[in-house]
Amino acid sequence: MKVLVIGSGGREHALSWKIAQSSLVEKVFVAPGNGGTAIEEKCENVDIKADDFNSLLKFAKNNNIDLTVVGPEDPLAKGIVDIFEENNLKIFGPKKAAAMIEASKAFAKNVMIKAGIPTAYYAEFSDFESAKFYVEEKGAPIVVKADGLAAGKGVTVAKTIDEAIKALEEIFIEKVFGESGNKVVIEEFLEGEEASYLAFTDGNVILPLVSSQDHKPIYDNDEGPNTGGMGAYSPAPVVTKDIFDFTTEKIAKPLINELANRGIKYKGIIYAGLMITENGPKVLEFNCRFGDPETQPVLYKMKSDIVPIILAAVDEQLKDASVEWYDDATVCVVLASGGYPKSYKKGYEITGINDAKNIDGIKVFHAGTKFENGKIITNGGRVLGVTGRASNLHEAIEKTYSAVKQIHFKDMHYRNDIGQKALRR
Ligand code: ATP
Repeated sequence: MKVLVIGSGGREHALSWKIAQSSLVEKVFVAPGNGGTAIEEKCENVDIKADDFNSLLKFAKNNNIDLTVVGPEDPLAKGIVDIFEENNLKIFGPKKAAAMIEASKAFAKNVMIKAGIPTAYYAEFSDFESAKFYVEEKGAPIVVKADGLAAGKGVTVAKTIDEAIKALEEIFIEKVFGESGNKVVIEEFLEGEEASYLAFTDGNVILPLVSSQDHKPIYDNDEGPNTGGMGAYSPAPVVTKDIFDFTTEKIAKPLINELANRGIKYKGIIYAGLMITENGPKVLEFNCRFGDPETQPVLYKMKSDIVPIILAAVDEQLKDASVEWYDDATVCVVLASGGYPKSYKKGYEITGINDAKNIDGIKVFHAGTKFENGKIITNGGRVLGVTGRASNLHEAIEKTYSAVKQIHFKDMHYRNDIGQKALRR
């Protein structure tokens, strides 16, 4: 089989690597890919951007691609799956109408309420004055969310009413999120520990992956501004078996059923961002694709070949599929460019990746990197995801950080406390 993976982050390197391990697969093309997928076995980068649907379609047809796997949310929200399917090409991911669970927070909330899925109470607004009035009436803390996609920056957890009003001004008056800010969702502040739940679905059956936990803020102890994610580990002990099963039965299944009631068949990955509160898990957000960086430790823990599972989801045969996992714990520590998530410089040479890779049980996934003249150089905010596996989380953390210490580039920054929340339990 020939597979095309769309995207260029750490998630896409992990997906390409995992897909390339399959005995069913002879070649994985990655569009546009990164410095890691450029040198990964069986993989080859293709210089096409993730939003250039015409070129992607042409490439898939001309190269007899048997399966396309979409990493990021943007192409899904813009309907790449619809277009590929209209051209009789096999593609893994939700169609445009289904990707709305991520692309519109107001839509997602409406679905959750209809399906009885536990989530924060909320109201939606399309003008500044009524939103401001609501915030003043409810008081703080309160959460303000731009409706559409905003690359993780559209959410303000406001500790004061003033902060919430400032967020509303940015959305409605300054229009900093453009069309994504035509509406806002204002939500109850939930307290608890966050965790990520991912599942394959073919629109009928839910096949869960293992639990994981991301670390969004840039600094240790969850301080500083939010990022795309500075590290993750799996499994997350905060997600007990009861919570995990509850999430499958009372969140994931009702979600696909409610969408089906609306005539929307959801195929692909469902990602529920959960807040584990005193009263059980509540959904903070749905994503319509694999999480980044959660995918790195989750796929590193997966024992099964992923390709038959993806094919079963596309072909609506997931009832016959199963997935096996290593008993081990896995950890991914993200190495970022100094200055990220604000401005940062690119183009620095990275050394020591081979020394890190040579440690047994370590895999270095690339994100913002480029392969140039035989060297790997930095090319983005999140640069590498050093991922380790060991028989328990404590050892996996030690091993991963020993690998991190082998790697160097100018102004490199990483968190020192990935996984510590789990160890404290
Ligand atoms: P974007 O839409 O900009 O891409 P996102 O989809 O990542 O952002 P969310 O996951 O909804 O946005 O929120 C981002 C973070 O804000 C969450 O990971 C969580 O830490 C915090 N958050 C969101 N909603 C709530 C809430 N109701 N209570 C407390 N914290 C929240």
